[in-house]
Amino acid sequence: MSTAAQAIFDWFSRCSLPGWIAFSLAGNVAIFLLSIGLCWLLGFLFRDRPLFDRPQTVTRGDLGLACLAVVLNSAVAVVGWLLWKTGWIKITHPAWWRTLLDLLVFVGTMDLGMYLSHRLAHHPWFYARVHARHHTHESVNPISLFVLHPFEVLGFGGLMITVLVLLPLSGIAVLAYLTLNVLFGTLGHAGVEPFPPAWSRLPLLRDVGSSSFHAAHHRSPATNFGFYSTVWDRLFGTLD
Ligand SMILES: [Zn+2]
Ligand SMILES: [Zn+2]
Repeated sequence: MSTAAQAIFDWFSRCSLPGWIAFSLAGNVAIFLLSIGLCWLLGFLFRDRPLFDRPQTVTRGDLGLACLAVVLNSAVAVVGWLLWKTGWIKITHPAWWRTLLDLLVFVGTMDLGMYLSHRLAHHPWFYARVHARHHTHESVNPISLFVLHPFEVLGFGGLMITVLVLLPLSGIAVLAYLTLNVLFGTLGHAGVEPFPPAWSRLPLLRDVGSSSFHAAHHRSPATNFGFYSTVWDRLFGTLD
């Protein structure tokens, strides 16, 4: 597995700058389309478990902002690649147990960083200038995940790059984290709850940031600031 990851990262490293820019852009467009497709699929499969009365209308402004988010995410990928090529970011290829540990550390650190920055985004000054745009979606639609102020997109990218500069992490853990991030973001804006209700009573599973968890934040923005887990909301008393 480590050899396969090494081969992928070797290929990344052999890319030219224009090649990597094209790859990042194509990759982020694919992620955008896959996320929309997954939202529709979840909406269809779990149409008997809706979280909102009706989906948010998709506006032309939303589409423009979502396209800008895709371009900015690609720019973040280019910055990350340049920092890796110049040795500021170190990627390792350790044994499976270390990869698993790295994934837990990366998800945990980003979860805390995103919880804190999301709380900051709800400070009246930042909220009015930056975060209010995402909350124009009082319910959700398949592009809600990407309807973000450009500063938020770059803020998330900046946080991820900062963690990667500070912590040398397993290549597979980084790829797995990026995949989980899109899955959780899509789930949070799917508008339906695919998780069985019993999960919310089981240890560990009840701490996973479900679709209802982020949907509740869109309905009542003073609660549920976390993304991947409910841990920080539980700890800081902001859980709905
Ligand atoms: Zn949201
Ligand atoms: Zn918010």
